[in-house]
Amino acid sequence: MSAVITESRQSFGLSDEHREILEQVDRFAQSELFAHQERMDDEEWWPPDAFPKLGASGYLGVTAPTELGGAELDFFASGLVLQAVARWNPSISLGILAHENLCLNNILHNAGEELRQRYLPGMCDGSLVGCLCLTEPGAGSDALGGMATTARRDGDDYVLDGTKIFITNGPMADVALVYAKTAPELGAKGISAFVVETATPGFQVAQKLVKMGMRGTQTAEIVLDGCRVPAANLVGSENEGVKVVMSGLDLERIGLSFMILGMAERALELAVDYARSRKQFGRAIGEFQLVQGMLADIYTEVEVLRSFCYDVGREVSAIEHGAARSRVHKRSAALVLQAGLMIMRVADNALQIHGGAGYIWEMEVNRLYRAGKLLQIGAGTNEIRRVIIARELLGA
Ligand SMILES: Cc1cc2nc3c(=O)[nH]c(=O)nc-3n(C[C@H](O)[C@H](O)[C@H](O)COP(=O)(O)OP(=O)(O)OC[C@H]3O[C@@H](n4cnc5c(N)ncnc54)[C@H](O)[C@@H]3O)c2cc1C
Repeated sequence: MSAVITESRQSFGLSDEHREILEQVDRFAQSELFAHQERMDDEEWWPPDAFPKLGASGYLGVTAPTELGGAELDFFASGLVLQAVARWNPSISLGILAHENLCLNNILHNAGEELRQRYLPGMCDGSLVGCLCLTEPGAGSDALGGMATTARRDGDDYVLDGTKIFITNGPMADVALVYAKTAPELGAKGISAFVVETATPGFQVAQKLVKMGMRGTQTAEIVLDGCRVPAANLVGSENEGVKVVMSGLDLERIGLSFMILGMAERALELAVDYARSRKQFGRAIGEFQLVQGMLADIYTEVEVLRSFCYDVGREVSAIEHGAARSRVHKRSAALVLQAGLMIMRVADNALQIHGGAGYIWEMEVNRLYRAGKLLQIGAGTNEIRRVIIARELLGA
């Protein structure tokens, strides 16, 4: 690990347990996941053994109880896993986020014992991959109000119809947490959440989407066409899906910010290494003050994010799931807003330091730059993040 990252990670009062997790996952990600980065980006390929390996190493189901196969650690620890993996392979970190934060955690916190027993052990050992199906072609920022997917009760089943878009892990998932309207006349108050096995007839991957960055992460359009799901797969109560969505989104935003921190750490490393090794005018470019200014800006941005991210991570770890929602809602939106703005500035400076080499597709810094833009869009766009913060500030 480069000295600059080692030094920064030491100064944030991590407990011995948290420091050990960060270092352990970092070593694992560097030795097992880093080498896949280039092929994943070139071929939009996902390594099939990634989830089983992560599961076998204890890095999935981080907050789930041990009797369900989890590691029974706090939320902060799950953030550190995302941070460490993202440093060496952002696409895999995004895949973990969708599996862990968006699907597994929502089942863990909102589903009954039977669903938890049925799905969590496989999701913790990586034999089952999860995804979350909320967004639709006509319902992005207005995911709840614009939702057109319906779930109609029919005997002991619900029948789901609709289209979901931009679903991370969609092409390869075994288990999907799907939101649908059970009472369309109630608008956002008529939404329910279901665990749907993707092998169920009527659950179709309509297309795999080609992305500008995070290309290894598999992203799909999903069509639900008369997809019959047992009523027992309802998560929580009927028409109470909004609660599930909202509590999950706050945690997703914090998890995403840990991930962004790992990517920013890597951008800093790459920028420092290049500034030391690249020579122009007979000197390392790092000797030029304009290059030094960019390096200093990157370092400062990374440290500011680390501070904010660890602070919000600690806060949410210390409170009961769903408690103090208003404060966490505002702070998680502010954190991810700051993280998304920061990663594009950092990636831009890091690429600039690489000059023409940075503009070349296969360069790692180029992948970071392309990946970064998603982090201003997913988990609520920058604009929606601002709307949430302002609404909470104004009590609107
Ligand atoms: C790679 C990728 C992975 C994703 N993974 C998942 C996933 O796993 N599961 C899932 O359910 N979803 C996923 N999403 C969807 C993501 O959450 C949405 O793309 C996002 O919420 C924005 O919705 P939209 O793309 O429809 O944009 P739109 O809502 O159409 O927004 C378009 C523009 O209008 C702005 N805008 C909209 N409303 C307002 C407003 N009220 N005030 C100000 N500006 C506004 C937006 O900020 C944006 O700039 C993913 C998206 C991507 C790109």
